[in-house]
Amino acid sequence: MINWRRDSCGRRDLLRATLLAPIGVASAGLGSAWAQPAAPAALACAGASPAETEGPYFKPQSPERTTLIEPGMAGTKLILTGYVLSAACKLIAGTLLDFWHADEHGAYDNAGYRLRGHQFTDEQGHYVLETILPGVYTGRTRHIHVKVQPQGGRLLTTQLYFPDEPRNTRDSLFQPKLLIALRSDPMAKLGRFDFVVA
Ligand code: FE
Repeated sequence: MINWRRDSCGRRDLLRATLLAPIGVASAGLGSAWAQPAAPAALACAGASPAETEGPYFKPQSPERTTLIEPGMAGTKLILTGYVLSAACKLIAGTLLDFWHADEHGAYDNAGYRLRGHQFTDEQGHYVLETILPGVYTGRTRHIHVKVQPQGGRLLTTQLYFPDEPRNTRDSLFQPKLLIALRSDPMAKLGRFDFVVA
């Protein structure tokens, strides 16, 4: 079920928490318990996703993979899914998504590529990332870094945030527009975020 609300500009905006569709289709590496969520309605792409600073821990040439979970890795499992859309609300296939984030203790792997990986949206503009909830570190709330670039398009560097985090209001980089819609499942935290790129 999709609910709607009106934002301060009067546009209808998705009440994103209700968009986390039950998951049922096999996605690469995720097993059969997970499904592709419903594609966003056209009204979902009101305004581009804001850019944010890259931060000091980006590393180029991450491995191509949809799961960042490795054997023995501790933490709470997170399945993040969503779509990449153009400002004209078109789903964009083949878009590069390069994710990186801290481990459960708030540390980045700057020597290797632990919790770093890139992938491309499928024919429907959809992506799935399997990872763990990032830990927090001094001065920051919980976040995931990401670079998003459609083929031949402009690069968006930004960060995604988690709801109900006590540090959100104290982190000057935090932006509500970059909040993941999150719900808990017995197997994992399930997140949804749709990127809108210029
Ligand atoms: Fe960071």
